[in-house]
Amino acid sequence: MTLQWIDSHCHLDAPEFAHDRIEVLQRAQVQGLAACVMPAVQAKDFEPLIQLARVTGQPYALGIHPLYVPKAQESDLALLEKHLQEALSSHLEGTAKDPRLVALGEIGLDFWVPSLCEPAMRDKQEFFYHAQLKLAKRYELPVILHVRKSADALLKGLRQIKVQGGIAHAFNGSLQQAQFFIDMGFVLGFGGAMTYDRALQLRQLATNLPMTAIVLETDAPDIPPHWLYKTQSQRQSEGVSQGRNEPSELPRIASVLAHLRGESLSNVAASTVHNTLRVLPRLQSIFSVSPSLRSF
Ligand SMILES: [Zn+2]
Repeated sequence: MTLQWIDSHCHLDAPEFAHDRIEVLQRAQVQGLAACVMPAVQAKDFEPLIQLARVTGQPYALGIHPLYVPKAQESDLALLEKHLQEALSSHLEGTAKDPRLVALGEIGLDFWVPSLCEPAMRDKQEFFYHAQLKLAKRYELPVILHVRKSADALLKGLRQIKVQGGIAHAFNGSLQQAQFFIDMGFVLGFGGAMTYDRALQLRQLATNLPMTAIVLETDAPDIPPHWLYKTQSQRQSEGVSQGRNEPSELPRIASVLAHLRGESLSNVAASTVHNTLRVLPRLQSIFSVSPSLRSF
């Protein structure tokens, strides 16, 4: 029997999938993926992403990603709120509730990219992060957080603006920081980065966290697992770009987690699906209606 999985973070609307999006989803379906949560990264992608969610039946999140904050404008926040209202309210004339909207994201802070660490850009990131936390609170949505060298600053924001929790995606902080997120109703997302032998701290975290705190993700097309990764010299000699990650890799990534923790693969599947549905409660309505991906 094929196990059921949820990819809690997958950028299916990315240009890397422009030519074979449906095939990518079909391959994921064959591997037992019941849903791929698609977070937005910038305002101009909101409409096409909502459309993609409609066509494929997949869940999505709306938000402005910290790497896109340099180009973002304050009016993008008004556009975000307009889409949240449309998706969440049934009483507005001509609009319907959209059960596929499951979170606000991808939002957060990135203090790893040097240009984003300039004082003015740090301020702009904080402004968009806090404004979006307020929207998540107002519309009672969980958030999907981008965390890169920013765990403490993100936690500070969460203490000021209390949201209902969500997912700290591609988490790579300390056990103590992980615990703070867990205490605030978050789970931690693990994916391809955990498949590398040298990722000692991350593997230790994946091994030692309670199973209730873990969800799985690919972050496709990014963060390829080690079996897809191409070194710079391979890329040059073979004339290819970095291996594209896709949601069908999720079960193999999960088998690394199962191995690290000494758990059965079916336990890992059941727990991570359960955890994802717990922190993204709106996903439950889609999931129960359609336990597998729609066929295309
Ligand atoms: Zn992402």
